[in-house]
Amino acid sequence: MTRTTKKAAAKLNAAISGAIKRFAPPESLTVDEWADKHRRLSPESSAEAGPWRTKRTPYLEEPMRAFTDPKVHKIVMVAASQVGKSELELNIIGYIIDQDPGSILYVHPTIDDARKFSRLRVAPMIRDSKPLKAKVHDVKAKDSGNTILQKSFPGGMLTLTGSNSASALASTPARYIIGDERDRWATSAGTEGDPWALAEARQATFYNAKAVEVSTPTIKGASNIETSFYQGTQERWCHRCPECGEYSEIVFDAIHFEPEAKRVRGKKVWSLKGGVSWACPACGCLIPEETMRRQPAKWIAENPDAYKKGVRSFWLNAFSSPWTPWEKIVLKFLDAKNDPQRLKVVYNTLLGQLWEDRGDLEDEDTMLTRREDYGTRPDGTPVEL
Ligand SMILES: [Zn+2]
Repeated sequence: MTRTTKKAAAKLNAAISGAIKRFAPPESLTVDEWADKHRRLSPESSAEAGPWRTKRTPYLEEPMRAFTDPKVHKIVMVAASQVGKSELELNIIGYIIDQDPGSILYVHPTIDDARKFSRLRVAPMIRDSKPLKAKVHDVKAKDSGNTILQKSFPGGMLTLTGSNSASALASTPARYIIGDERDRWATSAGTEGDPWALAEARQATFYNAKAVEVSTPTIKGASNIETSFYQGTQERWCHRCPECGEYSEIVFDAIHFEPEAKRVRGKKVWSLKGGVSWACPACGCLIPEETMRRQPAKWIAENPDAYKKGVRSFWLNAFSSPWTPWEKIVLKFLDAKNDPQRLKVVYNTLLGQLWEDRGDLEDEDTMLTRREDYGTRPDGTPVEL
């Protein structure tokens, strides 16, 4: 080929690829891919402001992927605090607005919660993401048609409301329902009954409807999110043991630590001797936290058949959170262990467990007392040495 024909061929190729780009359908992304590309964490709500990276919280990848799986119509996430569950919901909202628009009903426990979330989390997300900023107009702009609780975008509308507001729950049709802190919802929206049922009725006309239900767990037997979890695939985030290769969930009962109590100005202050480790339930080996944090992990479903019904459910405690060292969890537990109200918060928000009002708390206490003082019998009475 002569130089001129080469040039002409290159020109033609460029013209063809330009035409392909122009006529190609819009990019098809999953929620996590969209977030990696377009989402930025806002400085006012994140200690790690900047581009979103799914690999920072790898456990959120699968719940985000599930959202674009056409076979899945409901995603349930039971999670401790500070694992990124609000970011999961925000990524889903951003994806909907930009990629698959439709009406969204985003329900919080109360209207005040909804207003706060809109101002502190939704507005900064829109401001800091280019494609969202281009589609959702600023509330302050004249004639934007937007308010704190209602944001319109091409092809849809985001309505934020509270579980106690029957009017919003019962009025607008919605293809998407996202329920936040589900265990703190009102048991009845005014006199209209179960708020979740009211919201779900809004989806009746959509063949491609999706629902997302998220919460920290609360009290055993009285937890809505627990009921929803058991209707789904019941997936738990499991780490591979470096010794035996088995995958298991890291739970508090398998965490090993040596507590040490001191009295400072008459108050008991806890510290730990040495590091915190995990006992693998399969082989019994003790593995330090630093090692476990580098181990591969994946979701394992206890009820995989629920996938056929289109419901995927995930349960996550704080031991996998990159922002929560295990020592912090253990020390919070030790500080709270004699105060049922504070201990309940530790169970729900850190251990990611339902709280049971039960008699065996005394046993946990006795067990810890034995660890710190060997001159005590298992029943708590002192041994005469
Ligand atoms: Zn093992």
